[in-house]
Amino acid sequence: MNTSSNSILDDIERLLTTSDPTVVDSLYEQAAAARDKAYGRNVFFRGLIEISNHCKNDCRYCGIRRSNPIQRYRLGPEQIMECCREGYALGFRTFVLQGGEDAWFTDERLCPIVEDIRTTFPDVAITLSLGERGRESFRRLREAGADRYLLRHETADAAHYAFLHPDEMDFDHRMQCLHDLRELGYQVGTGFMVGSPGQTLETLRKDLLFIQQFRPEMVGIGPFIPAQGTPFAEASAGSAELTLRLLAVLRLLLPSVLLPATTALATLLPGGRERALQAGANVVMPNLSPSDSRALYSIYNNKLATGSEAGEAVADLRRRLKIIGYDMPSSRGDFRNQQPTDKQSLL
Ligand code: SAH
Repeated sequence: MNTSSNSILDDIERLLTTSDPTVVDSLYEQAAAARDKAYGRNVFFRGLIEISNHCKNDCRYCGIRRSNPIQRYRLGPEQIMECCREGYALGFRTFVLQGGEDAWFTDERLCPIVEDIRTTFPDVAITLSLGERGRESFRRLREAGADRYLLRHETADAAHYAFLHPDEMDFDHRMQCLHDLRELGYQVGTGFMVGSPGQTLETLRKDLLFIQQFRPEMVGIGPFIPAQGTPFAEASAGSAELTLRLLAVLRLLLPSVLLPATTALATLLPGGRERALQAGANVVMPNLSPSDSRALYSIYNNKLATGSEAGEAVADLRRRLKIIGYDMPSSRGDFRNQQPTDKQSLL
C-alpha cells in the first residue's frame, strides 16, 4: 500500500470499506509506525475537566443540548482549581476545560480561572474546549495563558452541518473560529463524529480534505453515540471499526498530529482505547471532573467516566499500557513538527 497523503485520499473508499484483512492490518501497522516515528511509543495524557453542562446551543446530536430537560451543573473557580490540584498530583501536565456554551462563563469569569491555573502550575498546558466564542474572547483567553483550543468542525460539508445543527448555528462561523484560533497562536484541535446521521463517504472525504489543508495540531474523532432526549435518540451509533480506520488514515495524512483515543470509542468498543493506539492514536484523556458531575455531562448515552477513563486511575492505566509497549510520560505532550532525535527530547 502506498501511503503518501494524496494516494490515501485517492484510495479512501477502498481503505474505509474493504473487507480484506490484509489491507486493514497493513493500514494499522503503517499508522502505528508513523506515530512511532513522530513521537516514539509515548502516549500523552490530558485531564478532562467538564466545567459545565449548561449550553445555549441545540445541536441535534448532543445530550446536553439546550432543549433537553436534564439536570444542569457548573463548576465554580475553586472546584476547577481543586480538579487541577488533584490532577497535578497524579502527574497530569495538560488540563482540558470542556463544557457547553454556558453564558455564565464570560471572559471576566473565565480569564481569572485560566490565569490562576497558569500561575499555580506554570509547567502545564491549558486547553480550552468551550465551543464558539468571539475572536476578542479567544484573544483574551490566550493572553490569560491558554495554549490550546479544541473545537471540532463536526463536518466539513455545509449541508450536512445544517442537518446536524439548528438554524441559528452557522458553519462559516465555526470555521472562522478555527482560523481565528490559529492566528492567535493556539495549538488547534478539530475533528468530527464518525457515523453521525447524514454522514456519507462524500462528507467524510471533505472532512479529510479539510483536515489535510488546515493541518490542525490535534484531531479528535469518535463514533457518534445516540443521546437520550435528542432528535437523534433512535439513530444508530457509528461504527467502531470505521473509527479505527479513520484514526489510521488521519495518522498517515498528518504524521505528527496529536490524536486521542476517545472516550466515545472506548464506550462503544471494549478495549477500544488500546485498539486506537494500535491504529496510530497517541493521546488519552481521562476524566478529572468531580465524581458527582461526571454522570451529568451526558453528551451521549452510557458515557464512560470510571475504570481507566477515570483520572484517579491513571497509574493503573500506565501499567496496562506499559504491558502493550507504551510509555505515559508526565509531560505537556506538545505538538512536535519535527521527529524527535531521541526519546529524552519528548520529556
Ligand atoms: N461545546 C463544546 C464541547 C462539546 S462536547 C464544543 O462545541 O466544542 C465535545 C464533542 O463531543 C463535540 O464536539 C461532539 O463532536 C461530541 N459529541 C457530542 N454529542 C455526541 C454524541 N451524541 N456522540 C458522540 N459524540 C458527541
